[in-house]
Formats: sequence, structure tokens, C-alpha cells
Amino acid sequence: MKQENARASDGQKEDCIFCTIANGSTDAEVVYETDETIFFHDISPKASVHVVGITKMHVRSLTEAVEQNIELAAQLLKDITVVADKLGLTEGGYRVVTNVGSNAGQEVQHLHWHILGGERLGPLRCVI
Ligand code: AMP
Ligand code: ZN
Repeated sequence: MKQENARASDGQKEDCIFCTIANGSTDAEVVYETDETIFFHDISPKASVHVVGITKMHVRSLTEAVEQNIELAAQLLKDITVVADKLGLTEGGYRVVTNVGSNAGQEVQHLHWHILGGERLGPLRCVI
């Protein structure tokens, strides 16, 4: 496995765009990072603030994360609240969404939560 950066952790997939962001071989506008998680601005924002939060370890979706490592899934949720606060979203409110599988339109097969805010958000249907 090619690992060019100290950010890299085990359990990554070379052909996964989010794994390459996690290991530093693809650039992203990172807003927060821990040993296990990383948060960066979405390349195609759907709200004034649109950040994506992932585990550095490759996990396909929320389903797989909960089955394989519920502590890590919980850590990612906890970090979301830290990032939301850091971005100034807590008081006004924000939305957190994860797509699982084809009906939801999951495009990147690496667990990620969308954090959306910075404005009054529209109805939930078809937000991402
Ligand atoms: P989903 O449809 O839930 O799989 O969402 C994937 C998200 O990843 C989309 O909102 C994309 O805009 C975003 N995305 C894809 N590639 C990148 C990238 N290189 N950097 C930042 N965001 C990305
Ligand atoms: Zn991945």
C-alpha cells in the first residue's frame, strides 16, 4: 500500500478517494483532524458550510462501521459535534447526513457524514 504521509493509517484502500485524502496523497481543505478521523470541505458544497467527516480507516458505510467498529463510529459522531462547534454552527443549528447504499445515492464508498449549515436549510428531501 502506497503511503506518502504520516497521516496514513492502516486499513486504507488505494483506489478510494477518501482514503487518499486521509493519507494526504489527495489535497483537501482540512478543517479538523484526529488520529482516527478527518474533516474537510466538500468539493461541491450544497450549503454555505458543507464539510465531510470520515474515519481514516476505510469503512464502506455506516452499516459496516457499526458492525465492525462501533467505537470508531461513535468517535466520528463525537468529532462531528466538535467540528460543528469549531465552525460556529452549534448555536444556529446544522444538519448531519450520511448516505448508505444505492437508494440513498452514496457515491463515495467510504463512510462519510455531511455536515451542512451556515444558513437556513431547506426541507430534508433530496438534500445531497
Ligand atoms: P455521497 O453522495 O454521500 O457519497 O457524497 C460524496 C460527497 O463527496 C459529495 O458531496 C462530493 O462532492 C464529495 N467529494 C467527492 N470527492 C471529493 C473530494 N476530492 N474532496 C472533497 N469532497 C469530495
Ligand atoms: Zn476509503
